[in-house]
Amino acid sequence: MEKKTCQRCGQEKTLDEFHYRARSKDGRQAYCKDCNTAQAAEWGVDNIEKRRLYQRRTYQRYKIKFAVKDKAHKAFARGEIEWKPCELCGCKESEMHHEDYNKPYDVTWLCHQCHMALHAAKREAARKVRR
Ligand SMILES: [Zn+2]
Ligand SMILES: [Zn+2]
Ligand SMILES: [Zn+2]
Repeated sequence: MEKKTCQRCGQEKTLDEFHYRARSKDGRQAYCKDCNTAQAAEWGVDNIEKRRLYQRRTYQRYKIKFAVKDKAHKAFARGEIEWKPCELCGCKESEMHHEDYNKPYDVTWLCHQCHMALHAAKREAARKVRR
């Protein structure tokens, strides 16, 4: 039986310890079966971690957003924030927008349509940056 050295663990194993791979020279994968299993397991763990982290971040962002909006609405109710019509189109059906969630009392007044358009534009810009 022919032998082959695994490129991951460095152990010399017989060919039947390697999975088939039609495109490679000797018709076998570079990693042995054990290493394949180990790596698949690692990736699985990794992905779960990533997903958890992503969920936590989304939740954190949601929590911050909610707390900031709550603060602003309470300040508005106390008369500390002045109502204004939409700053973009002058429409009277305006709502609060936060340019910076670190400044809860720093609000921009926008109507629902302008508000959604602004966020869509921001998402689009963020998507381009990430590329
Ligand atoms: Zn190996
Ligand atoms: Zn907004
Ligand atoms: Zn508007």
